[in-house]
Amino acid sequence: MPQGKLIVITGPSGVGKGTIVRSLIKNHPSLHLSISATTRSPRPGEVDGQDYYFMSKAEFEAAIASADFLEWAEYAGNYYGTPQTKVKELIDAGKWVLLEIELVGARAIANIFPDALRIFILPPSLEELEARIRNRGKDSESAINQRLIRAKAEIAAKDEFDICIVNQDLTTAIKEVEQAIF
Ligand code: 5GP
Repeated sequence: MPQGKLIVITGPSGVGKGTIVRSLIKNHPSLHLSISATTRSPRPGEVDGQDYYFMSKAEFEAAIASADFLEWAEYAGNYYGTPQTKVKELIDAGKWVLLEIELVGARAIANIFPDALRIFILPPSLEELEARIRNRGKDSESAINQRLIRAKAEIAAKDEFDICIVNQDLTTAIKEVEQAIF
């Protein structure tokens, strides 16, 4: 059976990870995206079971207690976690699985799956990152500030990753991620 592979995509909020990952999934049927659970409220247009499994805090804490998550982290006042069973099933079946997760989760995955390929997506600058978060207009002022504080800490850890890719131009960034994976 072919070897399963785990690919972790990390980078600050607003850097364009979601857009990159959606492009990868659309163009490469061999890649499977793990859908995370979160206690964050759905943004306009987000669909339960497609973008995230949206959960209450109590549901999420029960899932932590039942060891349902491969990893989980708190981010900007909410919980986020990777459901364990689905990812393990896919890897055991020889599939390539993409995780789009923040730094704490990426570190946990490095311990559990040392062979995972870990990619960090960087913004061209912090100013540009802030502009992108503001322009998408989906977060409150307090959420934006929490995300920018977290962004600085995440960027400071970029050297822990196998490869860093700057998302200056989206098409180029996607090509570079594809080169790293395939
Ligand atoms: P957002 O609220 O913008 O969708 O996500 C906030 C952050 O949580 C992003 O950096 C995203 O990559 C990360 N995230 C999403 N799902 C997971 C997960 O399952 N585990 C962890 N550790 N982080 C996640």
